[in-house]
Amino acid sequence: MAHLLEGKTALVLGIANKWSLAYAIASAYRREGARVVLTYQNERLRQTLEELGGELGAAKVFQCDVTQPAELERLAAELGDGLDTVMHSIAFANRDDLSRPFVETQRDGYLLAQEVSSYSLLAVARATVPLMPAGGSILTLTYLGSQRVVPNYNVMGVAKAALEATVRYLASDLGPKNIRVNAISAGPVKTASARAVKDFSTILDVVAKHAPLRRNTDPAEVADTAVFLASNLGRGVTGNTVFVDAGFHIMGI
Ligand code: NAP
Repeated sequence: MAHLLEGKTALVLGIANKWSLAYAIASAYRREGARVVLTYQNERLRQTLEELGGELGAAKVFQCDVTQPAELERLAAELGDGLDTVMHSIAFANRDDLSRPFVETQRDGYLLAQEVSSYSLLAVARATVPLMPAGGSILTLTYLGSQRVVPNYNVMGVAKAALEATVRYLASDLGPKNIRVNAISAGPVKTASARAVKDFSTILDVVAKHAPLRRNTDPAEVADTAVFLASNLGRGVTGNTVFVDAGFHIMGI
């Protein structure tokens, strides 16, 4: 079969290490023939990202903290025209807010989670839309905790609800430019961010026991859906939240 992303350039934001969902996605994009550009948040991750970028065969690796408008502007200038896909795989909340009762969440922690995990999609879209004059695909990652209460997911669930609404409003705005905007709702996967959620392993155990497929989600499954949505095969799909979670989200009990 022909490579699904041959001739396309993909920007992937949010690789911290080999366990990051963005790493699996960038690998799948490369497998399908895409030219891949990566970003990392700050100097602390530069060497790691340059090494991982080398392994992945990334065309370029740039620094970009998505909370810094000047860094997004610089990224867009460095990228230039000819972008086809943006994969936003970024979230952050204070660890304390992912372990104590939600009602104790303070303003600062609430706003921080919203800024990094939800508003940043809008900021990234605004910076990159001009680089996709022929249309394109913007993707983000979300989680069921946006719609249902998952113990300790707390402020991140609220941020993911805003993220999913942001996907819909962006899809409506950008559709006339032939830019599609979608979210993948991934099942729980043990990554650095996920470990910040108190008792995360309990969530994994519950899913393995109750999901229709009776197992957890493999990052490669999330990555293959990201390929589909970035490719011509997904050309009719926008404004969606696509679940890749072994079916867990359909269960009532
Ligand atoms: P991860 O490897 O920790 O990735 C999160 C990434 O966000 C890291 O690379 C992190 O960089 C980056 N980031 C945080 N603040 C940033 C900022 N201001 N500017 C730029 N980058 C920033 O964890 P992951 O699980 O793969 O998370 C990726 C996405 O998938 C997140 O949106 C997460 O909510 C979502 N998701 C995860 C799961 C799961 O169970 N793992 C399930 C559903 C959805 P630093 O390391 O430098 O902070």
